[in-house]
Amino acid sequence: MADSLTGLLGFEEFLSQAGAVICCEHKHFLIGAVDIADFHYINTSCGYDTGDAVLRKVAESLTLFLPNMAACCRSHSDHFIALVCIENVDSERLMQELQRLENVLRDNISEETKGISPNINVGIYYLKDGETNIVAAVDKANIARRTSKSNFNLPCVVYSEHLMDIKENSAKILPIFDDSFRKEAIRVYLQPKISADTKKAVGAEALSRLVDSDGNVIPPSKFIAALEKTGRIIELDFYVLTFICKLIRKWMDEGIEPIVISFNLSRLHFYSATVVEDICRLAEEYNVPPQYLEIEVTESVFFEAQEMIVTKVNQLRDYGFKVSVDDFGTGYSSLSLIGVLPVDVVKLDKSFVKESLKSQRGNELMKGLIKILNEIHLEIVCEGVETEEEESIVSSYGCNEIQGYLYDKPIPTDEFESKYIHK
Ligand code: C2E
Ligand code: MG
Ligand code: MG
Repeated sequence: MADSLTGLLGFEEFLSQAGAVICCEHKHFLIGAVDIADFHYINTSCGYDTGDAVLRKVAESLTLFLPNMAACCRSHSDHFIALVCIENVDSERLMQELQRLENVLRDNISEETKGISPNINVGIYYLKDGETNIVAAVDKANIARRTSKSNFNLPCVVYSEHLMDIKENSAKILPIFDDSFRKEAIRVYLQPKISADTKKAVGAEALSRLVDSDGNVIPPSKFIAALEKTGRIIELDFYVLTFICKLIRKWMDEGIEPIVISFNLSRLHFYSATVVEDICRLAEEYNVPPQYLEIEVTESVFFEAQEMIVTKVNQLRDYGFKVSVDDFGTGYSSLSLIGVLPVDVVKLDKSFVKESLKSQRGNELMKGLIKILNEIHLEIVCEGVETEEEESIVSSYGCNEIQGYLYDKPIPTDEFESKYIHK
């Protein structure tokens, strides 16, 4: 049955139409899977009529825009699938067309939503010569789309076998996460932030680790993406926050002046209506003054739904938490954005620091950047500092705090306490 809202095919019709095309026409095709990131946010904040209008716009843009469209459907909710003939189209042109399509979709959506401009996620699968299994091809395009969804820097992802590995990895990680979560056995490590002036630990970042049944420690690079994809990252982040609230409470009960502990807040939290209350409630439950907690928000998050995120970040700061922009220098870093973001701290990412220190020009850029950030009264933390030489350079540029292997890796809390708290 055709989709009454958009006039596109329904999923079943699409499968039979697209299946017939790829069997009969001996040409090259791709499957594109498209969805709108956090579409539910448009529905709840702009109303369902706007949500419907957005879906119609997407359908319209897809059919008008994509030349050589062999079939297109809304498979469900905000998910669209298209079969596109790519005979005689070179791949560079195709990527440009896709980029343009993304921009058209984004513009059309923000027209309807009065400024909210969510991400469009696109997954692409190129059908192989003679491949006729349309269902399997759609699955692969969807795997690529979901990868795009969990990675803000990759709005369009082309399927590769490597993505299948990630999917399999998720299937392995989730039971380990569930088990550790239930047993409260997720490890929270602390990495010190050292004052560039006094060389003392003035803060720490809480970073999580999973442990498998053989006792192997699993680093975040192996589980964060899977938890983001499934939304379970929300539980992880609250677990970490609870852990550090208990720790700060313990220090205060022992008569120790706590240092500020930061934790990473995934982008997904910002789409929860109660995130601000939830965080404040936890701090209150453990009677932890908010000035001892710092919330790290990845730079790219601020590009998503800027107004909504800035509002929530403001509420968190009004309550007394510190907020930092994490991973600065990895994504769409923009000085004009830094000028309007309501944050206290900018964390320069380790890859940015390393890359900048390699060349004269990079050094000048970093020096100028730190100077500007200092002038607008932002604290600057340099991550990934591994040598004394790097430390002395970034300190001479005016960086306030150093976080890096030069001082310590993230370490278990008892080790952290004996090195930095109960000295
Ligand atoms: P991040 O928030 O930017 O954390 C800093 C990462 O840089 C940590 O990696 C830390 O071990 C690493 N690092 C610090 N100094 C150095 C250095 O000198 N050299 C090198 N090579 N690396 C250094 P880690 O612990 O593997 O965490 C990776 C990322 O995973 C974090 O990046 C953060 O984005 C995410 N993450 C970790 N735990 C959590 C969590 O509980 N919740 C959320 N949402 N994200 C988390
Ligand atoms: Mg961080
Ligand atoms: Mg960072």
